Amino acid sequence: MTYASVIVDLTAQAVDREFTYVVPDEFNVSPGDMVLVPFGNKRLEGFVTSVSETTDVPQGKLKPIRKKLFEQSVILPELLELAGYMRSRYSCTNADALRSMIPAQLRGGRIREKTVRYVTLNVDYSLALERTHRAPAQRKVVEALKEGGRTSAELFSQFDIAPAVLSALKEKGVIGFSAHAVRREPLHNDGGRGNTDPVLTDDQQFVADRLIKEMGEGQTFLLYGVTGSGKTEVYIRLIREVIKQQKSAIILVPEISLTPQTVGWFHARFGDLSAVIHSGLSAGERFDEWNRIRRGEAKVVIGARSAVFAPVQQLGAIIVDEEHEAAYISERSPRYDARDIAAWRVQKNSGVLVLGSATPSIQSFMRTSPKVRPENRIQLLELDKRVHNRPMPQTQLIDMRSELLEGNRSIFSSCLLKELKQCMKNGQQAILFINRRGHSSFVSCRKCGYVVKCPNCDVAMTYHLNDRTLKCHYCLNEIPLPGTCPECASRFIKFFGAGTQKIEQEVKNFIPEARVIRMDADTTSTKDAHAKLLDSFAKHEADVLVGTQMIAKGLDFPNVTLVGAVAADTTLNLPDFRSAERTFQLLTQVAGRAGRDKLPGKVIIQTYTPDHYAIQCALRQDYRAFYHSEVLFRKRSMYPPFTVIARLVFLSKDKCGCQNTANNALNEFKSQVEELGLAGTVLSVTVSEAPIKRIREEFRFQLIAKLFSGSNVDLIEGVMHRIEQKSDDSVKIEMEINPNNLF
Ligand code: ADP
Ligand code: ZN
Ligand code: ZN
Repeated sequence: MTYASVIVDLTAQAVDREFTYVVPDEFNVSPGDMVLVPFGNKRLEGFVTSVSETTDVPQGKLKPIRKKLFEQSVILPELLELAGYMRSRYSCTNADALRSMIPAQLRGGRIREKTVRYVTLNVDYSLALERTHRAPAQRKVVEALKEGGRTSAELFSQFDIAPAVLSALKEKGVIGFSAHAVRREPLHNDGGRGNTDPVLTDDQQFVADRLIKEMGEGQTFLLYGVTGSGKTEVYIRLIREVIKQQKSAIILVPEISLTPQTVGWFHARFGDLSAVIHSGLSAGERFDEWNRIRRGEAKVVIGARSAVFAPVQQLGAIIVDEEHEAAYISERSPRYDARDIAAWRVQKNSGVLVLGSATPSIQSFMRTSPKVRPENRIQLLELDKRVHNRPMPQTQLIDMRSELLEGNRSIFSSCLLKELKQCMKNGQQAILFINRRGHSSFVSCRKCGYVVKCPNCDVAMTYHLNDRTLKCHYCLNEIPLPGTCPECASRFIKFFGAGTQKIEQEVKNFIPEARVIRMDADTTSTKDAHAKLLDSFAKHEADVLVGTQMIAKGLDFPNVTLVGAVAADTTLNLPDFRSAERTFQLLTQVAGRAGRDKLPGKVIIQTYTPDHYAIQCALRQDYRAFYHSEVLFRKRSMYPPFTVIARLVFLSKDKCGCQNTANNALNEFKSQVEELGLAGTVLSVTVSEAPIKRIREEFRFQLIAKLFSGSNVDLIEGVMHRIEQKSDDSVKIEMEINPNNLF
């Protein structure tokens, strides 16, 4: 008798263990297989974790596996082990971890391989002709099949025949049908860099050599390379070596839809050896790409966060491009950090992990310090110049307060406007960046100061020009723009805080002939919209690209010579300890879009806080200076990475109930910490209203614990997790460790 241990696909804690089933003689089952098993009075899908010839479970209690769902195993042995690691590290269930590793469509049998009906001759060609000599339509089909099989769709379209013709031929035994799998292939464009590898510069070669030399050591490297230093070509060279050694590579990018060019470059170089997986694909495309990886046909996987689980065998390298991006941390359970998963996998496979960025996260850069313990240390590699010594763009700071004093009330400083006009005159292109969509971020009455807020949320509503409505960006509620102040009936409604639509409008006002493309969440909601807009800009069908942070990353347009950061302080004023880091990253990245090819670039940063170190360092594009100031600030205020922030958010329509639950949780937290002797791990713990007090009619309170980073953090996480688990219907609780934002 053979027995299989199975994790059933339910995420409840209570069933988070292996259940034993009998493997019927009719099929072979091995670890990683997906199976259908009886569970209580239901049938559930499950994952086989191990197979054995013996069991302690009494025979009377054992039930057989009903079905094996896929011919091939779905979870590689390595990933089964990884699920165990995730379970302990992120306090999630096994099922949670396993689910995150496979395309969602694989579960519940919602998708299969796409097949087409394929038609072939069943008898000799001459015999087939004989049997159809009085049926011209049938004969045409036979002749078409002389050289080999065709799909029925081809036959229909080519000969304009009725389906009955094929049925008749089948009846006579002349033809047979079979199913052929076809691949649903995602759209690619090659990003305009061609398909041959350029000769590396000496600096690039040096870095590539080092990576290749230490490839088999399971090490992590931080590649800090300024914008335009040619990191992509270094990645490509490393992957060439990986493939030469018959291994595979994974490249993670923050959000595929925002980086269609990068995807295109890899596809152009590696062709069908590459696969792309991300949420923008149709379910079918996703499934097919995953299958090609699983079967080993695709050895170079490009994808967003979840691609770190790609079922490649013989993993040689993982590359995390723009490693500083928050998108690498999952916001749902399991709240994993793709960089940690990547480090685990390369260690397991003796591969190499490369974290690449022009603005590394504070956390990663800090780990390159010689003071860090060797097991946590990562190696720093640097590309400090642009390819072929192309100059870094020239930057200029504009103090918008002085513009105001000089009577310029426009959102463009006179300098930015002058440069923009010059840029248009030269037939070059410009990028204008503002991290806010819509027309105005709030509207307010000039007489009484009333600000229109969303009735469901504690946030100001954003004015959208195209349909003249006020929209809430949190609950998507919309109301028409009031003609008079709802509070005092005055007609002096004013717009404040420019967004992308306003910039677009102003460019058209000042330079009517300029063709503008706007890229923000509103213009990119449809499939492939990002790629189409960027493609159009690349073809110079527009002169100015206006956009939110979506346009800051990774874009490479040789003809862009001017970049304007229209309101550089937007992100600086957010109530979050990472606002300086976010601002520095965004400004440095967007500045890096200028002058990437032969034409030199110019960057204009408009700000009301010109002295802030984030702005000053971005102006000088001086990452190290920023790093040192930021580390000082984090240390002084005891923020990560010096501490770990653990947060519980309480949500309920009942404000009192919400607040009470939060306060009770605080007491429980304190007493458990006491009981477990963990007082030394907790620096502070408080309960307060969240900065955004209400979203979608739900009041929001938060418990924030600052923990000393160190060995007991996971025990505290356990405490919080138990509190989170207790939430009932009236008050929802969400737990986050080092949350992406603290709103
Ligand atoms: P990064 O990702 O570091 O910002 P990229 O990899 O996008 O930089 O490269 C910047 C530009 O330099 C691109 O246009 C790229 O095609 C070009 N480039 C990179 N390496 C080379 C090289 N060795 N020879 C010529 N051009 C290169
Ligand atoms: Zn008013
Ligand atoms: Zn709202």
